[in-house]
Amino acid sequence: MIKDALSIYIHIPFCKQKCNYCAFASFCANSQTIENYIETLCDEIKRRKCNKPVKTIYIGGGTPSILEPKQIEKIVKTLFDCFDIIEDAEFTIEANPNSITEEKLLMWKSLRVNRVSVGVQSLKDKSLKKIGRLHDHKTAIEKIKLTRKYFANVSADLIVGLEDETGKDLCKYAYELLSLGVKHISCYLLEIYEDTRIHKLIAEKKYKPLTDEQTIEAFNKLSTYLIDKGMERYEISNFAFEGFESKHNLNYWQRGDYFGFGLGAHSFEGTRRYYNAETLEEYELGIIQEEDLQSNEEIEEVIMLGLRCRLGVSLSKVKDMGYDMTKNKYYNDYISQEILYEEDGILSLNPIYYHLSNTIISNLLP
Ligand code: SF4
Repeated sequence: MIKDALSIYIHIPFCKQKCNYCAFASFCANSQTIENYIETLCDEIKRRKCNKPVKTIYIGGGTPSILEPKQIEKIVKTLFDCFDIIEDAEFTIEANPNSITEEKLLMWKSLRVNRVSVGVQSLKDKSLKKIGRLHDHKTAIEKIKLTRKYFANVSADLIVGLEDETGKDLCKYAYELLSLGVKHISCYLLEIYEDTRIHKLIAEKKYKPLTDEQTIEAFNKLSTYLIDKGMERYEISNFAFEGFESKHNLNYWQRGDYFGFGLGAHSFEGTRRYYNAETLEEYELGIIQEEDLQSNEEIEEVIMLGLRCRLGVSLSKVKDMGYDMTKNKYYNDYISQEILYEEDGILSLNPIYYHLSNTIISNLLP
């Protein structure tokens, strides 16, 4: 992989329907709004044209798969005209089962997409309905099968913590996904945000997510199952067979440079971050906020990102940045209790403590 190459993220904020738990920058829109957005997005890509090579592209959302083949084609062609995309660049598109069609899959393939990430979340009809997803078990299975016909590299997302979904249920979903040839599974904990429909349903006692203890138990069962099947937990929430790790996400976790295009997208270059506006009106005005990371913020990022994934943290790198982690008051205890491992100067968090990572990592910060 070429050193100093960029990653590119493109945000498509539109969804056919808002899921009950969703707090992402996503909403329903009419076809004219979508057309206008694509125009603005392509203008932004042209404006930020540069000659650095690009190693990964990720079209996320929202639901990029609701775009018509011609609309995706326009965005991708603009991108390829303005950037030098390397030969074996990883190119992912996010898709929801109900909007995947054979025509779209063929178009994506012709545009050099080589990885599809499918928002499955659950494979239980009752559960999918309760969280406001548009697909059911049958559709998810059919569409993953169809996607696999054209793409070897398919990822699926699952949510842990949904009402009545035990570890056993999750293992059953994982079994079905792996049988279909899915190579990467992201497992996210259900998070309840205010102003979401699920928050209201919980308050009205109409929805009962798992308790924290039940969620951890379910996650651990799923994690053990996936590892038994030969996957590696290469980041707290991500499992992959060897060679199918998300290169795009690895670039984020290694603090590589990236450009983000679209509503609310972030960019990172060296120590500088850029944030695109989060409303359509302000995005169309081209409003971008910038900030330079302070050295302590950089150290915190290196530790947080490194300990969340298999790559770990280089103690000498952090020391060179001005912080000796070995002098932290928790360091020796964590090492002796095997919560942390140190090998050849690389510090890693023992995966069996991943569920406590927030506390452990915050104790280790300067
Ligand atoms: S499909 Fe994804 S982005 Fe869209 S509303 Fe549902 S969770 Fe949010």
